[in-house]
Order: sequence, then C-alpha cells, then structure tokens
Amino acid sequence: MQTYLKNGYIVTMGEQETVYDGGGVLVEGENIVAVGKIDPSLVKPDAEVIDLQGKYVLPGFVNTHVHTSQQISRGVGDDVDFITWLHKRMWPYESNMTEEDSYVSTLMCCLELIRSGVTSFAEPGGQFVSGMVRGVSEAGLRAKLAKSVMDCGDGLPTVWQKTTEEELDQQVDDLKRFHNTAEGRVQIWFGLRTIFNNTDNLIIRTKELADQYGVGVHMHVAEAKSEIEYTQAVYGEPTVTHLERLGVLDRNLLAVHTVWLTNEEVSLLKKRDVKVSHNPASAMRVLGFAKIPRMLDEGVCVSIGTDGASSSNRMNMIDEMWLTSLIHKGWRLDSTVVPSQDILRMATKNGARALMDEALYGSLEAGKKADLIVIDPHGPSMMPVNDRIAALVTAMRSENVRSTMCNGRWLMRDRKILTLDEDAILQEACARGAAIYERAGIHLPDRFPVVKV
Ligand SMILES: [Zn+2]
Repeated sequence: MQTYLKNGYIVTMGEQETVYDGGGVLVEGENIVAVGKIDPSLVKPDAEVIDLQGKYVLPGFVNTHVHTSQQISRGVGDDVDFITWLHKRMWPYESNMTEEDSYVSTLMCCLELIRSGVTSFAEPGGQFVSGMVRGVSEAGLRAKLAKSVMDCGDGLPTVWQKTTEEELDQQVDDLKRFHNTAEGRVQIWFGLRTIFNNTDNLIIRTKELADQYGVGVHMHVAEAKSEIEYTQAVYGEPTVTHLERLGVLDRNLLAVHTVWLTNEEVSLLKKRDVKVSHNPASAMRVLGFAKIPRMLDEGVCVSIGTDGASSSNRMNMIDEMWLTSLIHKGWRLDSTVVPSQDILRMATKNGARALMDEALYGSLEAGKKADLIVIDPHGPSMMPVNDRIAALVTAMRSENVRSTMCNGRWLMRDRKILTLDEDAILQEACARGAAIYERAGIHLPDRFPVVKV
C-alpha cells in the first residue's frame, strides 16, 4: 500500500540537504520510494493521495536521551538540590516501581514523544527493560533500550545492589530476548548509569560486549561538576580522559550531557567519533553549559535529548531545539552561534548517527525508512512564516506537528493518536504515579497554604 504526500515543503536533511518547495514524498510499506519531484508513473492507482497544501514534511525527530521510566514521576524533583533530588526523590521513586509501572510510564512517555514529532529515541535505562519493550512495541516508535546499570556506589537502594557479573548477565539476557523485536523497531543497547556507580571493570567489559553484539553503549558522561571532582580525586583525571585511558571512547558510545569537558577532551570526542547527546533543559537546571559551539566547530556529532520528566519535565524535542537555539547565544554573548540549520541537523540526521542508524532514517531519501512528520504552521504562534527553516526552531510548537509516521505507519494523524488509547493511559499513569509516591514515602511540601473545600 502506498501513501503519496504531495504539494509539500519537503525538508529532506539528506546528503545535499535539498528542500523541495511544492514537492512530494512517496511511501510504500515501511519505506520511502521517492522524494521531491515525483514521477507520476511511480504512484499506483490505489495509493492514498494526501494534498499537503504547502505544509512541511520533515524527517521524524530523534531524541537521543529519554528516561521513559521517569515519565510518571514528573514533578518529583522541582526546585530541590541535586543530592536531595537523587537520594531522597529519584532513588526511592524508581526503586519502588514495578515492571507494570515501567510499561505504563513508557506508554505515557511515548504519547508525548509522538505528539512532539519524535519517531526514534534512545533510553538510558530503567530497571525493567521488558516493560519498556512492551510500551515501545505498542506505541509504534523505534527505540534503543538499555538497563540502568550500577555495580558500585554508596547508599544505593538494596534492590539495586548488584555485582558486575549480575549486571552484565542481565543485559545479555535482555538482548537475547528483545533485540530486533517489533518489526526491528526495538533494539537493546548496553547501559552505564554514571562513573559514580560503575567500576572500571564493568565499563571495559561493557564495551567488549557492545562490540561483540554490534550495538551501542549509552552513558551519562561528565554531567555534573561534582562528577569531575570525584574522578579527579579517585582517578587523578577527568571523566572523558579516564574513559580514553580505559579504551572505551569509540563510535558506539553515546555520551550524554558532556558538560564538564576540557578543550582537549572535546577534541578526543571528535577523534574517537563519540556521539554526544545535548540536553539543554536539564543542563540548565543544575549541570551547566556544555561547549556545544566548540563541539560543532570541531565536527563532533552532537544530537539532542530531553532527559527524564523528573529532571526537565518536558519530553518535548521542539522545546529542547528552541532552548538549544537560545542558551549558547546567551552565554557566549554571540547571536550567530548554533544557527537553526545546525539544530535541525542535531535533531534529525545527527540523532540517527548517534543511534548508529544513519543508513535507515534521519533524512528523507528514497530507500530509507518512512519515519516522517507533517508540520502545519497555521496559527498565531508560528505565522507569518518568513524564514521557513529558522521558524521550525525559533517559533514552532509541538501543536504544529500535525501527523507522525514511523516505519510507514501513522502513529498520529491530524493530532489524533492512532496506536494507543490516550485517555486510558493518562488515567492509569496518574493513578500509578500517585501510588508510587505513597509507597516510596515521598511527600512534596505545599508551596502555598492549601484549603480543602
Ligand atoms: Zn539521564
């Protein structure tokens, strides 16, 4: 069955980054058959023809860092310091989740991702990969899923105290069960939570296993100032330098946040082709400013992620793109750095490279998977559209994402989610979220006097 999207503003993000004004995209099955000026003989008589009337078509966004299991904990850590956030809120919360909670949290997260134009994402790890797999499979998205892996560290909840061997075995087991399931949309990667909670032995063996299975490693790297103070004290060098010494900096490492880097370490990321996930909202909250302008100048593959709902609250790539366009201009006092076209690259084809899938998606080209979104700029927040590319970064809202297609299947069409029962998920997710707060003994203080009437 073919779908023919015609008369659109097609932003391909392909090799030449050509834009087709008045062009089309022809989809057949899971794949894109043709883009741009479509030869009418390619369109079969029974194709569904959709006249876009000038709306944009873009590759689906790739969100390279999403904690799906934190979706139903949204708000758990607002306005508290980092250690309170981690030890008193997140650890009790996440360690009180069940497999079913993880599944429902993933469904809830997928709703927000689909609504904001994401077709593919990387998950750094909850505790129940099986729950995440179920959620992603049903939602119709693509994902690289990992377990949150920790084999050392003070004060961890008892259920998370695992040996190196147990953590590696569990991941290999998950990989054997779930890798390349859901029509190949679901893949399993290895996870490393952070250097605070990962021994050198675990880090080295994780890299060996990832190479053996041909998958990636997803790790929080150099995220906080306290992390660099820790690695300096324990190893006598900052995180990225230490990872280089362990021999794990490579093209299959997805390094998230990377805020606290020396200039030499930025060059190392380029030299080793390490992929970076920039998460501006959560960075602004507590981490600091990543050297994104320098990374782009050096040619590091920088992508964009939203982090988790308990650290940045909005699992919305469009908000992160907008933030990316602002914060670096601000701290560099230079309004020309990180222009909109760079940000679109980060959110699409760089994301696909970060997920080691640049041959499959991230651009609209014949032969690639049909992962695409339709953008309707109509409305007071985005119109008039003068600079058509910049408007996608500086003015677009998630409400402008009209339809989302992944693997040739519409997940959302005309703002209606087709793969999931949105109302039922919202209801169940809220109930489960509240129950976990209760079990974990988390009580958020009232900020204003509350009178129950
Ligand atoms: Zn994270």
